[in-house]
Amino acid sequence: MFAQLAVDEQERGQWAEARCNDSAGTMVALFFSEQLDDIAHAKAICGDCPLRDDCLQGALARREPWGVWGGQLFLNGKVLAFKRPRGRPPKHARQPISA
Ligand code: SF4
Repeated sequence: MFAQLAVDEQERGQWAEARCNDSAGTMVALFFSEQLDDIAHAKAICGDCPLRDDCLQGALARREPWGVWGGQLFLNGKVLAFKRPRGRPPKHARQPISA
């Protein structure tokens, strides 16, 4: 039990180093935002986080339903390579319908 407590304490200390941890939770909205600029900002914060690899592996193992973890955007437990903006694509991006 004490060994487990020591591990827990060590893990807590490790996660205190996380770039997203400001001890006040002010970055939660940024890391779980639907806005593309917020997502890019969250990914940039992860970019120099010393816990990035552990964070990403943990998120994959837990199949995180959404949010930015370890520098990647998750949806339904999987990494999304690209997030489309909301709404219909602009007309110039649509393919013409041929008969
Ligand atoms: S890698 Fe994980 S722990 Fe580090 S800033 Fe990103 S979400 Fe936070």
